[in-house]
Amino acid sequence: MPIRQLPEDMINRIAAGEVVERPASVVKELVENAIDAGASRIVVTTAGGGRSLIRVEDDGMGMDRADLELSVERHATSKLADDALDDIRTLGFRGEALASIGAVAHLAIASRMANATSGLRIEVDRSRKSNVVPQAMNRGTIVEVRDLFAGVPARLKFLKSDRAEAAAVADVVRRLAMATPRVHFVLGGSDRSPINWPGGDALPARVMQVMGADFTENAVPLATTRHGVVVTGLAGLPTYSRANSLSQFYFVNGRSVRDKVLLGAVRAAYADFVFRDRFPAIALFLAVDPAAVDVNVHPAKAELRFRDPGGVRSAVIRAVLDALSGAGYRASSTVADDVLSAFRVPEMTDAGRAPPLPRGFEAQPFPRDASAAFAGLAEPSARFEAFEMPPAQSDYPLGTARAQMFENFIVAQNGDSLVLVDQHAAHERLVYEKFKSQLAEGPVASQMQLIPVIVEMPEEDCARLEEAAPVLERLGLYIERFGDRAIAVRETPALLGQADIDGLVRDLADGLAEWDNSAALGDRLDAIIARMACHGSVRSGRVLRVDEMNALLRDMERTPHSGQCIHGRPTYVELKKADLERMFGRTR
Ligand code: ADP
Ligand code: MG
Repeated sequence: MPIRQLPEDMINRIAAGEVVERPASVVKELVENAIDAGASRIVVTTAGGGRSLIRVEDDGMGMDRADLELSVERHATSKLADDALDDIRTLGFRGEALASIGAVAHLAIASRMANATSGLRIEVDRSRKSNVVPQAMNRGTIVEVRDLFAGVPARLKFLKSDRAEAAAVADVVRRLAMATPRVHFVLGGSDRSPINWPGGDALPARVMQVMGADFTENAVPLATTRHGVVVTGLAGLPTYSRANSLSQFYFVNGRSVRDKVLLGAVRAAYADFVFRDRFPAIALFLAVDPAAVDVNVHPAKAELRFRDPGGVRSAVIRAVLDALSGAGYRASSTVADDVLSAFRVPEMTDAGRAPPLPRGFEAQPFPRDASAAFAGLAEPSARFEAFEMPPAQSDYPLGTARAQMFENFIVAQNGDSLVLVDQHAAHERLVYEKFKSQLAEGPVASQMQLIPVIVEMPEEDCARLEEAAPVLERLGLYIERFGDRAIAVRETPALLGQADIDGLVRDLADGLAEWDNSAALGDRLDAIIARMACHGSVRSGRVLRVDEMNALLRDMERTPHSGQCIHGRPTYVELKKADLERMFGRTR
């Protein structure tokens, strides 16, 4: 076949393939145009998952007749000054959205500028333009897209259910709304119950509208400037992590993006606090010099390229780490909700009567000697350390220790709450943080063993440990080879107290085998420290004195990140008196 220049409508349809993937991409382009037009109120309406109708109405600057006719042409834009591709301050700049949409749907645009006597309307059907006709309307622009992909069966086939497409539309609007808190957003139509987010100056207020009060209550503010990058937003507490990344929002200069550098930085910042398969919730806003970022690397402008990815990464990591240390011992309040929902009151059957008791449990005449019936209950099912109650000091956030249960749970009371602490998990985190802060200053302090402890193990394990010895010494663990199949331990990290040395060394050997070849050991320090911290002296199963328990609580309050253990699980649960009353149905 000879080479030929493709006709205009074909060119538009090809471009549309990149820009308009699904209804949500149309919504994104139209709302971005409205934002660029300086709108203060944007109303988005969809039906049939956006397939039958997408309507975006704004009160922005509008267009005159000439602009309206040009706007639907390919490569026609009002946003790009000469040679200014490296200084983009608008969301759009490629001038192909409207042309692309007009190529794969029925497009109608009505627009009126503030000083115009009337509005004007143009329609485009599969790239064929109508004449411009007058239309009565207020200032601004109304874009309607009907029968999206009607003539593009290949695309229609890949669309999901109306519900899934409508959800994708809502997600796009959420992200755009977060990026522009001053704009009032309304999202309606037959696809959903309406959403109404009035505009305002405060970013936290918009984040709360979009992500919910649950998130803002369990997040800490970000504020760092580094390497010319201004980082703001809210970082979720580690214990508020989610099973997917839908609660992660990234913005660069007001543009919602998915970017590997940012995702990687957030993952790295939370690596110590959130388990691998969990995703922290975060709303991250970056402001950078427009010249320091290339936004023209993706047709839908969803990705970008930083000129200095390393600087951006370290700015984001710093911002998140600073914010999380500021959170200190806090664990998310939703942990208590999870606990409470686990205590759900059994379902009542009709009219609130309790369900009939199973056979054998019918009311029996009460035995004369009632205590005999309850004899079994008198025996404590677990060891319970009760003691003289010290005066309650409610000014400590984690309260005053009242008791220890099952040799692992500290029961404390602070003013209005019951606090339950998992002493093993908490102590692990405390030891871990101390290791890291000592290591920042130099080698970790060690304590000498009076007699070296000999640990026998397979030859490969001995070899791996021997090889790791220099790294382990920095952490206060001094070992040497003791014959073919044993290791001698001479000094141990002082932080671990009377640790189970045998267990510690075996656990480290397991870790080393697992990490074999995967990374330089120096990069594994955190993982090694985590393993060591597990072997600290206050493991579960140790009875603590009252002063030891209180010391642990005070230590937690002082230590950053102590609200979750090294594996990202909470170290304590706080149940408010009101929660307890709710649990027993007292407040109903
Ligand atoms: P781009 O946004 O990249 O410039 P579009 O195809 O999305 O390309 O829009 C083309 C032009 O139409 C814009 O540059 C703008 O001048 C005009 N336009 C589009 N939508 C609106 C709107 N809602 N209000 C005012 N002008 C608009
Ligand atoms: Mg645009």
